[in-house]
Amino acid sequence: MSSRRLATVDRAAWDALPGMVVLLDAAGDALHVNTALAAFARREPARLLGRSWQELLDADSRRQLIERLAGRQDFAVSLPWAGAGGETAWVEWSGRWRADTRQWLCLLHDASAGKRVESEARAQASLFRLLADNVPVLIAYYRASDFQCQFANKAYARTFGTDENAIVGKTFADVIGKAASEQIQPMVELMILHQQAASYERQLPQPDGSTRFIEVHLLPHVGEQGQTIGAFVLISDITKHRLAERAVRESEERLAKFMQASAEGIVFHKDGFITDANPPLCALIGYSLDELLGRPTLDFVAPEHVARVATVMAAGQETAYESAVVDKAGRRIAVEFIVRTMLRGGERMRMTIVRDIRDRQAAQARIHHLAHHDALTGLPNRMSFMEQLQHHMAAAESEGTRLALLFIDLDHFKRVNDSLGHLVGDTLLRTVSARILASLRGTDVVARFGGDEFMVLLHGGPSQEQQHDDVDEVARKLLAAIEVPVNADGRPISVTPSIGVAFFPGDASTPDELIKNADSAMYLAKSRGRANHQCFDRGMADSAYAALVLEGQLAHALDRGEFELYFQPQVRLRDDRLVACEALLRWNHPERGLLLPDQFIPVAERQRLMLQIGQWAMKEAARCALRWHAMGLGISPVAVNLSTVQFQSVGFVEAVALVLAEDGDAREAASLLELELTERMLMDDLGEVKHRLLRLKALGLGIAVDDFGTGYSSLGHLKELPIDKIKIDRSFVHDLPGNRDSAAITRAIVQLGLSLGLSVIAEGVENEAQRQFLAQQGCEQIQGLLIGAAMPAAKFEDWVKQRREAERRA
Ligand code: C2E
Ligand code: CA
Ligand code: CA
Repeated sequence: MSSRRLATVDRAAWDALPGMVVLLDAAGDALHVNTALAAFARREPARLLGRSWQELLDADSRRQLIERLAGRQDFAVSLPWAGAGGETAWVEWSGRWRADTRQWLCLLHDASAGKRVESEARAQASLFRLLADNVPVLIAYYRASDFQCQFANKAYARTFGTDENAIVGKTFADVIGKAASEQIQPMVELMILHQQAASYERQLPQPDGSTRFIEVHLLPHVGEQGQTIGAFVLISDITKHRLAERAVRESEERLAKFMQASAEGIVFHKDGFITDANPPLCALIGYSLDELLGRPTLDFVAPEHVARVATVMAAGQETAYESAVVDKAGRRIAVEFIVRTMLRGGERMRMTIVRDIRDRQAAQARIHHLAHHDALTGLPNRMSFMEQLQHHMAAAESEGTRLALLFIDLDHFKRVNDSLGHLVGDTLLRTVSARILASLRGTDVVARFGGDEFMVLLHGGPSQEQQHDDVDEVARKLLAAIEVPVNADGRPISVTPSIGVAFFPGDASTPDELIKNADSAMYLAKSRGRANHQCFDRGMADSAYAALVLEGQLAHALDRGEFELYFQPQVRLRDDRLVACEALLRWNHPERGLLLPDQFIPVAERQRLMLQIGQWAMKEAARCALRWHAMGLGISPVAVNLSTVQFQSVGFVEAVALVLAEDGDAREAASLLELELTERMLMDDLGEVKHRLLRLKALGLGIAVDDFGTGYSSLGHLKELPIDKIKIDRSFVHDLPGNRDSAAITRAIVQLGLSLGLSVIAEGVENEAQRQFLAQQGCEQIQGLLIGAAMPAAKFEDWVKQRREAERRA
């Protein structure tokens, strides 16, 4: 009973308490709930007795609490409270086990407010951390009393080789290093003492050897009592900025040096006024620098060029163009301006390189004259004539007038040259040219086309009949004038012309066609006993007639020994060494002089004469190759061109074997030769082509693919064939390096060759720019006029010897 009484007293006392109390029995049933707790739970105290109080807890909390109660040990635990108001509260339980009464006395405390503050603080701290870690500056905070770091963002910590947690507690000196901290010490003291923000820049050596430039701001943290509590450190990376500044400075220094060192005139101008000039420019135009500074740029430009220069300046164009300046003495100087816009001393300027091109222009004028005139007679040459012909044909077409082209070829001129010598030949040509000129009107065009060929272009009115009459008359006049004997070395010699005539617009639509047809007509004149003139007629079209003439002569050319091989050198790019050559066929035609393959090979091929001619060429090439080998000239291989007719003929390989065996050691001869086949020849039946090539190779011959790039042969195809070399077609080389397509094709061919392990040679190399481009691409060899033209065997031998001598000396 005493317990009951005691309990009654307790109850009254507990109800008077502001704190929350609950009395539980050993089984966890509530015996008493005080008023404060009931109010907190918003229930009648009686409705919390027994097990009912547990409804205030969620399942997990309930389990936790019951476990504690079962343990019969004093406990303290913080648990969520599902309260009546709906919002979760946090309640701290302190349970005391009263062993005497076997009851639990639990005090409850509402800890919600504290808990909320704590989690808000945590959220804010992490927000701050997020912010600090994401701004593009380095941030740290140091305590003033001991210079220990209290906070740093990730970027700051990493910059100094640590992380944002490990850095806390380290001193300033620990973090940035002793040397740096000593250096900065005065700034830090100033900031603490005067509570003034301080900034400075410093360089930060990086582990990789580079340097970062940083700008540091120190901001004092001042407490309420006015004392310095700490310092905020804010660092920005200004490396990019500094490097850019340095680059500008360096480029300006370079520019200044370049300007002084340049041999060419350089002037700077801004808004049209001269701001600087180098000594060569002053020397060129005869003014001192002082006289130039501040003057308008245009004052020095020749009057007729002022408009153009002003336009270029106004548009701010970066360009190069020819112009003229006037020097102090008033002389006009032809120059090239190369203009650039650039920054100098932070200002946008125009820089003009002024290049004296007087010499260049004089040379160009001279070259132009040489290029357009024949040195011997002073008449326009072939190139010039072609230009004029083009022009006159266009004019005639638009005006509805007519033209007649007379193709004049001297009969048996070669004989004169050979028997009486070149000097007599030259005199004769000069005389003939003067007589032709004298026989014509001033408006007619006369040109020397080469050798003993002259062209005359006559203008006519709209009437065809009239034109024919005029031409007949002119032709007769020419015949009469030319055949008058010329006094050569005291004796009279006489030559006659054969004249072929073609009319425009009747006979042709292009200059080439017109010339070709006049040429055919000229052959007709020759075949009709020479010393006469013939007009072109359609009956002899597609040069059937000329071919017929040629064919008749071709058949005898071999017997008469009129064919000759010329040789063109091939050089290795790597060391500029002469290594090989190509044999090129020529026909010394008794009347027409030296004929190139294009002029007769098509005819020979049609007649199958090409088989014999080809055999002859190979025999001749083998003979030369063996001879040079014996002489130790080191020219190998000698390349021989094959015609389709040859390659496809039955028994071709056997015929080659026979030719090779003719001069003794067939194996040796073969090893010194290389056969050139065009890509097109290889495009037939792969199996058959491959078989044939293998047999040629078995003889010991090398195989090259000629005119490569023009035949669209497939790569797969090529891989299959036993080939040693490819020759880049000269049409691509011609356009190098400027033409992008040709450059790309050339590059691709060289790569292809390299990847298949083939040698690559470029033909038709005519200038240094082409050579350099090919060398850069890794092309192995070149052939072309830049190295040397095709030459007769004897001349080639001399050439090789001289070259070897030069190579030895180099
Ligand atoms: P190809 O085999 O492509 O020979 C190269 C041609 O380019 C030669 O003309 C050569 O004189 C010329 N050439 C060399 N260097 C330069 C240069 O720097 N610029 C320019 N524009 N041309 C250069 P060619 O001697 O008139 O021969 C023409 C073609 O006749 C040859 O072309 C070849 O297909 C054929 N040919 C020459 N000799 C023979 C031969 O013995 N047999 C056969 N079947 N064909 C031959
Ligand atoms: Ca060739
Ligand atoms: Ca070729």
